[in-house]
Amino acid sequence: MTKEYHEIDDIIVIHYKYSFGGQSRFFIELKNNKQIMGTKCPKCKTVYCPPRIACAKCYETTEWIPLKDTGEIKVSTLVWYSTSAFIQNIPYAVGYIQLDGASTAINQGIFSDNLVPSKVKPGKRVRAVFKKEREGKITDFFFVPIDEYDDWIQKPEFEGGKNG
Ligand SMILES: [Zn+2]
Repeated sequence: MTKEYHEIDDIIVIHYKYSFGGQSRFFIELKNNKQIMGTKCPKCKTVYCPPRIACAKCYETTEWIPLKDTGEIKVSTLVWYSTSAFIQNIPYAVGYIQLDGASTAINQGIFSDNLVPSKVKPGKRVRAVFKKEREGKITDFFFVPIDEYDDWIQKPEFEGGKNG
């Protein structure tokens, strides 16, 4: 015997804030200065991007350092399905990008006006492009193949960083 449940559609609205805690400076610098920041361990000199507040190897408290907005794709994949937040960008790539001067790689979107797998394969050079309307979120920037950079920063909604 199946049970019968009475259901009513309703909506819950929740307004809330969340904190980036010790990593807040990364997002503040993105928003205010189009500057990608990393952290450096004063002991073993490992440079983390995404930043870590303490070194994963020796537990020292790290120090903030500015990084260049150029780097190399270490691994990537193409995205054909997405949530509503990114559906307008399909197809695009996501990958781990090791910025010049960093020891680790950051997971980020890689956009291309003419996306083919060979453009986003490991070893390819990329550069960060920033949204003009930045909110202090990880989506304030993305990477493009280095040979498309000049075209992307000409678009009205985007601009280049200052640290290539
Ligand atoms: Zn260390």
